[in-house]
Formats: sequence, structure tokens, C-alpha cells
Amino acid sequence: MPRICATDHSGKMPATFNALPESQGGVGRHKCAACAYDLGRSEATAAEERLRERVRKLEAELRDLKSRQ
Ligand SMILES: [Zn+2]
Repeated sequence: MPRICATDHSGKMPATFNALPESQGGVGRHKCAACAYDLGRSEATAAEERLRERVRKLEAELRDLKSRQ
């Protein structure tokens, strides 16, 4: 597990995570790869929910259009 940040990432990372470097470094990049991974997972979950909501709205629109025929 990373030693470059104070967050406890134990138990949340995939098994292959330990093979990655702790940091990608550089300006504008995450200092801790585990923090970057967590943020990416959170953003993906939020994007998935937005997509599901969009599909629900489109399905409702389709049902409405079919009911008018
Ligand atoms: Zn971290």
C-alpha cells in the first residue's frame, strides 16, 4: 500500500495494485495512485448513475410516444 499519503487504502484496491508505482508525480497529477484510483471509481459510479437516469427518461419518452399511436 502507498506510503506517500495518510489515507488508509487497505482492502479497497485490486490485487494488482501493488505492482503499480505509488505515484505518477508531476504537476496536476495525483500524488498517490490509490487516491487517484478511488476518485476515478467515484466518478465512474456517478457517471453510471447519470447514464441510467438518461436511459430511464428515454424509455419513458418512448412509452409516451407509443401510447400516442
Ligand atoms: Zn492516497
